[in-house]
Amino acid sequence: MKLLVTGGAGFIGSNFVLYMLQQHPDYEIINVDSLTYAGNLENLKSIEHNPKHTFVKADITDAQAIEQLMQQDIDVVVNFAAESHVDRSILEPDVFVKTNVLGTQVLLASAKKYNVSKFVQVSTDEVYGSLGDTGLFTEDTPLAPNSPYSASKAGGDLLVRAYHETFGLPVNITRCSNNYGPYQFPEKLIPLMISHALSDKQLPIYGDGLNVRDWLYVEDHCSAIDLVIHQGRLGEVYNIGGNNERTNVHIVETILAELGKPKSLITYVQDRPGHDRRYGIDPTKTMQELGWKPKHSFETGIQETIQWYLKNKDWWTRIQSGAYQEYYTQQYGGR
Ligand code: NAD
Repeated sequence: MKLLVTGGAGFIGSNFVLYMLQQHPDYEIINVDSLTYAGNLENLKSIEHNPKHTFVKADITDAQAIEQLMQQDIDVVVNFAAESHVDRSILEPDVFVKTNVLGTQVLLASAKKYNVSKFVQVSTDEVYGSLGDTGLFTEDTPLAPNSPYSASKAGGDLLVRAYHETFGLPVNITRCSNNYGPYQFPEKLIPLMISHALSDKQLPIYGDGLNVRDWLYVEDHCSAIDLVIHQGRLGEVYNIGGNNERTNVHIVETILAELGKPKSLITYVQDRPGHDRRYGIDPTKTMQELGWKPKHSFETGIQETIQWYLKNKDWWTRIQSGAYQEYYTQQYGGR
């Protein structure tokens, strides 16, 4: 099987490429990524000499470049490429629309032209909006995105749906909850808090810290996408979640306790505008239809993640000295 993976130098995409080459050593992967601030070829160092993996630096909005890749007998497209950080989408929404909507359209048009056997759109539970204290998102929950990020992802998802309904393109959409694990860019909650705690810097928490997210270890996300590629019914949406709802403050306190650091490092900062209160995902369909089951509880996943960040300090300190620093100063005033 030959896969075209987009965004495979980012957090989940690189974990997915490594996972697939391990699970299916005979598969070929073409990995296309434009290497924005979030793309990092260091994530793929362990496979730099693997002849089954080819990296191509290109933008998914570049129709000509995408067409050249799609011509190479691609069986399955897995689209991870996206602008993915909600805070950044509040600062500059236009780049989110360009990559997440227009980029998806370019990929779909090319996938249709070259008759791929499946197009998998990797999406997010954030397209469903926010929940109250009870209830879970199912695949039938109406889309009600609240941030420019989630609105642009919903736009991409609707185009994927339309290509299936209008042109019969074989597609699946996956929607998953918050991922965590190795190679996550240190602007996201868990790696941000681990890196700050290790440097004895303040740990900024939005609002009252009681926003709830449903946490999924990245390898469990990858195993679900693998099943969707092989067994997903065409045209279907699959929700992927770890049944691990935790408040942000619980996450931060767990990290501090694991690292033996004081709670006094926590500092509460002004809430994010439009901050969704709670996400919770119902993964029953994916579990029942595809036989998927996450291997990691939150407690084991967070320990493995902390250990990885402890062992790979060079990886995240190099990132923190670069473009990330500029953004962080703008967002948090250099705190
Ligand atoms: P990420 O920001 O770490 O990686 C995104 C990658 O896409 C980067 O390598 C970047 O260089 C690349 N990219 C961005 N714009 C591009 C463009 N125009 N052309 C080519 N490449 C481009 O994101 P992530 O956390 O790995 O998320 C991957 C996917 O999973 C996204 O589609 C995101 O919406 C979805 N998702 C993420 C989470 C999460 O918790 N991280 C949860 C649900 C869904």
